[in-house]
Amino acid sequence: MTEVPKTHPRRDSLVLRERLVGGFKDGVVAPQGLIAHGRGEAMYYLLGERTSKEARIAARAAAAALLRSERPVISVNGNVAALAPRELVVLAKTVGARIEISLFHRSDERVSRIQAVLESHGATDVLGFLPDERIPGLEGTRGLCSSAGIHSADVVLVALEDGDRTEALIRMGKKVVAIDLNPLSRTARTADVTVVDEVTRAFPLISGYAEEMSGDEDALDNGLAKYDREENLGAVMKTIASNLGLGD
Ligand code: ATP
Ligand code: MG
Repeated sequence: MTEVPKTHPRRDSLVLRERLVGGFKDGVVAPQGLIAHGRGEAMYYLLGERTSKEARIAARAAAAALLRSERPVISVNGNVAALAPRELVVLAKTVGARIEISLFHRSDERVSRIQAVLESHGATDVLGFLPDERIPGLEGTRGLCSSAGIHSADVVLVALEDGDRTEALIRMGKKVVAIDLNPLSRTARTADVTVVDEVTRAFPLISGYAEEMSGDEDALDNGLAKYDREENLGAVMKTIASNLGLGD
């Protein structure tokens, strides 16, 4: 990997890029994943590359939804595995979720490489290598999933997910929690709870709130009640408009 200068003013962004490129070279990230990251970067730039108040409100609701879930599953793709494997495993343990590798551009080789990355960060019982079910409405390998994971989950957390797949999960009756930097994406607009933040920040944010709220039913009620998707996404878009000098 290229050494990122410690003094570079936008070091964090360059470090994430290097992780993606490394993941691509290791066969974890699909070439299309590099392009998807660029779209995320652009949105993050417009958001000022910081965690907003709205992201915190959404992360609380996300944590509450995952803690209230009977069968939570965290869906993982190549970009997520390259960017935030440790943070993802911590979140799965904190909320008692299963992890399922679920790829838009699926190959057995990429699934097993992602599985190895997750296991090297302490993940166990990772699903996805041997899918035995389908997500209705998604043709080809994009629709494969596991009966013990996504197919029987009540809450599914998706990060950096395609809108078509998010919509298919909603049609299946899943409650969907999304992490997505683009407040205009179909994923952001159809998930039940959307955390508009960079994934390496969003996972620890959700884990932190989950630890704080665990076992406190009032806090869980409150976390869910304080979140309204339309209002939240609207406020995020106002931030972007204001950063662009478009007033409020
Ligand atoms: P949709 O399919 O939901 O309409 P899209 O086609 O624009 O959206 P996809 O490439 O399908 O986007 O999904 C990737 C999503 O992940 C994008 O919305 C992108 O902004 C977001 N994204 C990319 N990198 C990150 C990141 N590091 N953290 C959070 N979100 C990210
Ligand atoms: Mg898409």
